[in-house]
This record gives sequence, structure tokens and C-alpha cells, in this order.
Amino acid sequence: MRIGFIGLLTCRCSLAALAALAVPSSAAAGASKQDTHGHDEAIDEPVVDADRPTRAAPHADCDLRMPLWEHKVARGEHLGGIAGRYGVRRRDLLALNPSISDPNLIKVGESVRVCPEIFPRVRERKTHVVASGETLSELAVQYGLSVDEIVGMQEGKLSDPNRLGVGHELVLWVDGGLVEAFAPPPPAKKKKKARRRGGRKRKFGSRAGVSIKMRGDDDRVHIKRAHLSYGTAKTIGLLDRVVSQYRGKVGHAPKVLIGDISKRGGGKIDPHLSHQTGRDVDVGYVLRGADGKRTRFSGVTLDNLDVPRTWALVKSFLDTHDVRYIFMDYKLQKALYEYAAAHGTSENVLDEIFQYPRGRGKNYGIIRHWRSHRNHFHVRFRS
Ligand SMILES: [Zn+2]
Repeated sequence: MRIGFIGLLTCRCSLAALAALAVPSSAAAGASKQDTHGHDEAIDEPVVDADRPTRAAPHADCDLRMPLWEHKVARGEHLGGIAGRYGVRRRDLLALNPSISDPNLIKVGESVRVCPEIFPRVRERKTHVVASGETLSELAVQYGLSVDEIVGMQEGKLSDPNRLGVGHELVLWVDGGLVEAFAPPPPAKKKKKARRRGGRKRKFGSRAGVSIKMRGDDDRVHIKRAHLSYGTAKTIGLLDRVVSQYRGKVGHAPKVLIGDISKRGGGKIDPHLSHQTGRDVDVGYVLRGADGKRTRFSGVTLDNLDVPRTWALVKSFLDTHDVRYIFMDYKLQKALYEYAAAHGTSENVLDEIFQYPRGRGKNYGIIRHWRSHRNHFHVRFRS
């Protein structure tokens, strides 16, 4: 059965990626705690949209993971921004839309099919009257947009973005609630699906049977805790590829610091909520100087972060095209974003990958902020 959902709004908004405004509900709660190894670990990693049951049936073209969504292209949007809005990659969109012959030329009003990792939200038109002292970059974060997006939404009526006049009325297209088909089902149905989800988890868990340790990588990686280094065969294979690619790019460099994956066979491990199915990997940022030799997650600042090498490592993960998301502290994201932008990464790709600069609360892109990811980043592979 094929069910698609047509965009509800024929919005005339000019620019891309008015992605989800709301932070997942668990973002506001939770905390971090010191574990027995003396570093911060996330204890409240979120359940992402794609793991949640929806009102509409999952679609076969989305591997039965979520309903299919049809995004209506708005003025000024590019494919990278559309991908970022839904937490997917441009090549996912191209695979689902063979009719797009030139990825750099998509037409306003055209439908783009997407299997959204970040669920679609209803776009709402808002007017903002500029007050004294307000800047576009502040407003961008306030509304979960980028400056370019806001400028595009003014359709040429904002001649100089650096000189915002007090009292000027800005038209903003912001995200409201979830599109109905992607909202959680009514309570009775929800219970039934929740049980089914539990079953699925056990199935994944039983496959976390391969340890990165078994690959005998001692000169390339440091494994923090051998008993928590078990992943699916696919995860461990991808990790091996990532490490090889990274080492090939940077040459002689500190070992890649691998934190928790899963325990053998999967299942709950303290203090994590995820890391149950052999698909999550905690990875240390690459640090400069003597800090680069550390064997635990600790003390990452903008002073000791080795930005070029960390970007090379993150890029090696992204290049597998098998990453569902990466949780990374917003400030460190900014450092990588600025480095990537200054070294030839196109706006299309930046919009596809980074949540930055839309604010740490915006559910957008592959690399997203989550609390307690200052001393390591968390990679979730696709199953
Ligand atoms: Zn983690």
C-alpha cells in the first residue's frame, strides 16, 4: 500500500529549512551525572522522531520506519536545506525522487518525497516588528532560522540586512505543531505500539555481538571500556572504515578514542538511555598537544580542540552515508561549522549537515546539540 502525504500549506515563504521549532520534550528535563570513570555521560539521550509511533502507517519506501512525506518546495529553498529540515541527506532525497534531474535546480511548488527523521511541522506565517537593538542573527536563533533564510523570506524588501530599521515588519515562516499524520496516535493505540517497539529493540539488541576490540586495532584506536565495545556487525564494520579513512586523511595522529557502544548482546547500560542496540558509538573529540593522548573523555575547550582533525573525523563518519545523527555540543558545532565553511564546504552541504546556526533548541540537520556532549560526540548509525 502506498500512502503519501501532501504538504498542507502552499506557503510562499522564500527560503528553506523552516525546520521543527520544538525541542524534543525530553530536552528540557534530565541531567548529566558523573559516572564511576569520572566523566560526564548523557543519561537522558532522546528518543528521536523516527522511533515514535505516528497516526499514519509507515511507508514501504521508508523501510516501514515512518510515513512518507511530500515536501512542497518554497521559494529560495535548496536541496541541502530541505534535507536538513528533515534530518536526512541530499542523496536520500535524490534516491526517493528520481524525477529530480539536476539537484541544483528544484522548482518552487514541486513535491519532494522524503522519509523524515525529523518529523514535518506545519509552517506558520508570523510578523515580527523590529525593536531597538535587535539584530538579524539574534532573531534567527529566536525563530530557529538562519539569517539567509530570514533575508530570503523578505522577498527583496530588506535591502540591507545589516541595517534593520526599528519598526520594520519582517515576515517570518516558522514551524508550528507536528503535521497531523506524524503526531502520536491517540492513547489506546499508543500503548499497543509501545509494546511492539520493545520487541523491536530486543531484536536489535541480540545482534550487538561484535566487539571493536576483536579487530586488533590497538595502534589506531583506544577503547575505553572493552565490555561496552560491542556493536552490530554493520556498526563495527562502519567504524573500521571510518577509522581507516580518517587515518588516511590526517596521517600520524592521536588514536581515535572510542567510548561506549553497547554491551554484548545489547540491552540497558547505565548511565545511558540509548546504546542498547549496538548502533550508538561515543567518540572522543581530537585534542591538540598532550591532551590528544588522553584515554578518557575530559576537558574539551575551544583552546585544546583540534578543529581540523575533529572535522576530518566527523566527516569520515558522515561519508559513510549511514549516520542517522550525531549529538555534539553547540559551541563545538560552531567551531567545526566555521572551519568547514572556511575550507570550501558549500552552503548546500552546511545546511544539510549542521543544526548551527539555527539555535541549539532547533531540531534540524544531522549534527545536533544534546546536553552532555562537550567531551565526546555521539554517533547513531542507521540500522
Ligand atoms: Zn552516547
